[in-house]
Amino acid sequence: MAGCHDLIKKLSAYADGELDENLCADLKRHLEGCADCRLMLDHITMTVRLCREGKCQELPPALQQRFEAVLAERWRKKFGQP
Ligand SMILES: [Zn+2]
Repeated sequence: MAGCHDLIKKLSAYADGELDENLCADLKRHLEGCADCRLMLDHITMTVRLCREGKCQELPPALQQRFEAVLAERWRKKFGQP
């Protein structure tokens, strides 16, 4: 089972549909049991989809800041300070 750190590195490729089948299965298993990584993936897939639809736009700054704050907090709790 891949850890969160490994997974993060692969998440953007996953969101982009560029991972091979085996890695995909690994990631999916991990995502089923890891809310933090699901949150991260949701954000990445949303961004990728918007770009593909030609609506590549920044999240509203307030939302972006809140999202990053939530992620940073979750990551700190899970992995400690960088
Ligand atoms: Zn995880």
